[in-house]
Amino acid sequence: MDIDVTQVAKIDARRSEGLKNIIGKSGSIQVFAGANDCRFFVNNTTNPASIANPASKGGDLEITISSWFLKGYSVGYVMGMLCHEVGAHYMADEGIGDKAYGNEATTLKNKMKIADPLTKWTYVPVEASQSDHIFACCYGSPRYDYYRNLMGEFATLISMYLTVPVNGKLLYTDEDLTDLLDCWLMDVASILATKDRRPLGVVFPYSKYVAEAYAAHLAQLKTDAAAVSSDADVQNAIAGLKDKTASEIMSAYGSMAKKLFA
Ligand SMILES: [Zn+2]
Repeated sequence: MDIDVTQVAKIDARRSEGLKNIIGKSGSIQVFAGANDCRFFVNNTTNPASIANPASKGGDLEITISSWFLKGYSVGYVMGMLCHEVGAHYMADEGIGDKAYGNEATTLKNKMKIADPLTKWTYVPVEASQSDHIFACCYGSPRYDYYRNLMGEFATLISMYLTVPVNGKLLYTDEDLTDLLDCWLMDVASILATKDRRPLGVVFPYSKYVAEAYAAHLAQLKTDAAAVSSDADVQNAIAGLKDKTASEIMSAYGSMAKKLFA
């Protein structure tokens, strides 16, 4: 697999090397993409990132990232974005298996309701702006497991390279690891709390709901930490994460409002 990060490198060398290293080392991405290549493009749109021509459809993996997102967010958050695009969407379609994919299709076709067992909140996925998002955020669903496991794989890779230089440079910091975990939790919590109308999360009482979902999924992540990663540093980072108050959610949203992943 050839990974072209030339356009990202023009904006930030460490972020481009950090992305390239994890994509190159991720067993899940390597197995999924096979002989296809991966190319990054940078544009100036408000949407932080998008993915096109996924390898599952026979083409190369092409990811576009907006320049403001690259400049404003850590490698950990950029990896969190990439994890959402491939782990909640394209790779998950194949990765969850035909039976689970068929069950999702049946749920949509029959306008069925599903629940997130951690918050007890219920959803009709076909009514969401993107039904994938609901499946990816309800604990215990195959798409949730797939997304969280890929996040765990990325976290493990960041952890492994915290002290191992690549081409003479250290590419990640402890904060990148925390940022990746927080990015995943904020993504899941904001989708659940707003039924996938995520900009609402900045407004009370939705910010309170985001805080509740964040706490519930963080508690479960702590319970499941050993299954998410066998790496001690990742497990310690998970153990060290704290709940957010509704006002902390509001201020996080202030800087996050534009980085809600498509
Ligand atoms: Zn999405």
